[in-house]
Amino acid sequence: MSDANKNFPLNYAASAVRALQPYVPGKPLDELEREYGIRNAVKLASNENPAGPSPMVLQAVEAAAKTINRYPDGAGFQLKKSLAEHLGVEPRQLTLGNGSNDILVLLAEAFLTAATNAVFSEYAFVVYPLAVQATSAESRVVAANGVEHRQALGHDLNAMLTAIDESTRLVFIANPNNPTGTWLEPDALYAFLKKVPSTTVVVLDEAYCEYIGAQAVRMSLAWLSEFPNLVVTRTFSKIYGLAGLRIGYSVSSPEVAELLNRIRQPFNINSIALAAAEAALLDQSYIEASRKANSEGLAFLTEGVASIAGVRVIPSQGNFVLIDLGRPALPVYDALLHAGVIVRPVGNYGLPNHLRVTAGSAVENTTFLTAFSTALDNLV
Ligand SMILES: *Cc1c(COP(=O)(O)O)cnc(C)c1O
Repeated sequence: MSDANKNFPLNYAASAVRALQPYVPGKPLDELEREYGIRNAVKLASNENPAGPSPMVLQAVEAAAKTINRYPDGAGFQLKKSLAEHLGVEPRQLTLGNGSNDILVLLAEAFLTAATNAVFSEYAFVVYPLAVQATSAESRVVAANGVEHRQALGHDLNAMLTAIDESTRLVFIANPNNPTGTWLEPDALYAFLKKVPSTTVVVLDEAYCEYIGAQAVRMSLAWLSEFPNLVVTRTFSKIYGLAGLRIGYSVSSPEVAELLNRIRQPFNINSIALAAAEAALLDQSYIEASRKANSEGLAFLTEGVASIAGVRVIPSQGNFVLIDLGRPALPVYDALLHAGVIVRPVGNYGLPNHLRVTAGSAVENTTFLTAFSTALDNLV
């Protein structure tokens, strides 16, 4: 067998795919407990809602389970109807995805080819480069705001505008951004949209917008009638507490929704997720309570971390904080694992001195803070 054949069929895979580095998720709880022989570990690594699902969702899941022998409604009629009402848009503007991750990939598939490029910021959500690279399009990574900026490490919209040219089909904006927690003011975003050429689709990823408040949920949607090249993506994984079911959506012009509908898998959302999302929408008091608990958690983490010498918290509008340790983060991450606390290292984002920590329950946040300060003391 010749050398050239040794790695067959790898050598024949698309070169863009061969060069991909797979996504690294937060460490699962049972994996840590299995590997380290500990119990009651705390996971603050994946920006999940610590409250568990709403009781109304659990009821809907149980009811929906009775008909899982049937294919789901591939058009998601009921959920789209409820979502449209909740958001003040039309059902035909909605596209449902297997997580909003699915929508991001569909957008890349729909608009990108090897002859085009996509623009996004340094330190932006890591799924953007993955989705872009798989299509063979060029990723144009724009330098983020410097550390002295009010929104340190956040998106620099002017620099992003400069990077856009006639071959730019997509620009990804995460607002608030993960993992930095930074955000963009509505006026700045609106001015940006005005300047983006109509040949470029602006993907506004609002996975965390519900944490800002009810007003933020409708803010960007009001711009859709003025900007047919705007696509807003949302998820049920974060404040809605359905990360394990995989469901998200986009709001766009009906034309873009129709385009995405051509390439999505016919049954990309399962029937349990459809029913759960509809029930989750109805329980807005769960959302209110989650928002309140999150701001208390963020304040607790921010103050607690700020009181430790040598570390710095970046202000966040999400359900997590990014902490600058001013030193390599992996030894601290490891020490936290041994203490039964999983946080998220972000070296893959080019931030080797930072850790991202999700705001958990009050008990989880206290556990983290104690373990964190102990870890830092022991490493000096
Ligand atoms: C978590 C997250 C998503 C999407 O998650 P899904 O579970 O796929 O809906 C999208 N964008 C950002 C910025 C996120 O942090």
